[in-house]
Amino acid sequence: MNILDIITKKKNKEILSYAELEYAFLGYLNHEIPDYQMSALLMAIVINSMTLEETIALTQIFIESGEVYGLSKEMDNVVDKHSTGGVGDSTTLVIGPMCAALGLHMAKMSGRGLGITGGTIDKLESIPGFNVNLDRKQLINQVKELGFAISSQSDELTPLDKVIYALRDVTGTTESIPLIASSIMSKKIALGAKDILIDVKCGSGALMKEEKDARQLADWLEKIGAYFHKNVRCVISNMDTPLSYAVGNALEVVEAVNVLHGKKGPLYDECVDIVSNLYSMSTGEPIGISRHKAKECIRDGSALKKFYDFVEAQGGKLQDIEISNHVIHVKASKSGIIKKIDALGCAKLACKLGASKMTLDDKIDYSVGVLLKVTEGKQVAKGDLLMDLYVKDYNQTFVEEDFDFIDIG
Ligand code: URA
Repeated sequence: MNILDIITKKKNKEILSYAELEYAFLGYLNHEIPDYQMSALLMAIVINSMTLEETIALTQIFIESGEVYGLSKEMDNVVDKHSTGGVGDSTTLVIGPMCAALGLHMAKMSGRGLGITGGTIDKLESIPGFNVNLDRKQLINQVKELGFAISSQSDELTPLDKVIYALRDVTGTTESIPLIASSIMSKKIALGAKDILIDVKCGSGALMKEEKDARQLADWLEKIGAYFHKNVRCVISNMDTPLSYAVGNALEVVEAVNVLHGKKGPLYDECVDIVSNLYSMSTGEPIGISRHKAKECIRDGSALKKFYDFVEAQGGKLQDIEISNHVIHVKASKSGIIKKIDALGCAKLACKLGASKMTLDDKIDYSVGVLLKVTEGKQVAKGDLLMDLYVKDYNQTFVEEDFDFIDIG
């Protein structure tokens, strides 16, 4: 077997066997296949796709590249959630504490930003001192005690996904149903939750731009889940516009805290939806009762308390979080109605400020980002504030197109 033949087969739209996928992907993990050849294979997969069977095989190879934690054997009511990634999507930071407050157990293995989508680990790293590297024992102990823990992908659990994820991020190979499905499901299965809810984002700021692709991804995630005996439910949610007002790492942590304080809006609504589903899947309670419980744990402050306990348990000092004090106010150039706030454009602006990476070696500036001051449908007058940009310094230059993502009609 050789890697050139495997790349060529996929380039010619042929189906790869388990052995071929294993040779290429494990070879990459073991440094026998270089970045450029794996990038070529990934691009061939993005363009020519894979069958469900190939995707299940790749999921298995990812899982077997590391340990399997099997959390459901250690405790009851183990749930997991995953978002396929979006803009202003800090749902995990809200949902984890909510689930813990409701007596569920969630051990979350989260990722860094992928393409234009933000990553939970980058957000958490904006909290000084926060330890995102929990080993198996630390992760399990914290979940047993507190109900909730988040770790970045360790080298123990699906290490193959970790290296492929980082390579996809900087090679334009993020938007692929088989690659997304195998990446997500391998982590979920290796961790071992019984009930898994996956929020498949669809729209300009998501990896899936078209609804039909989001539906196919959801279908495959459920089928892969069933193959590995997991109860997987998918919801498809819109990502044409940012999910919250804040886009940028520290800003998003603060926004998650605001939601845990009860701030209403799309982020609150989505978190309540997801937690209701997870609670209902795990306990068998009807969705109406589950919904009531989800709202109640925010209203009575128990989810907020779990969040503070979680940050403290992982060494974070929330009071030291840094948001840049260099702020540029962007104002409306004309009067009208906000017709659209485009998620992709907003993510690109946040990336330009330094909130996410463009190359493997880029460093993220956690303190920068975009804080939107308007919502779609709002009437604005010329000169009204549209957004605040938290910038590193005042030397950065902007062009009109940077702000075009807010369409005033
Ligand atoms: N989330 C993941 O873990 N992997 C992907 O490929 C996309 C979203």
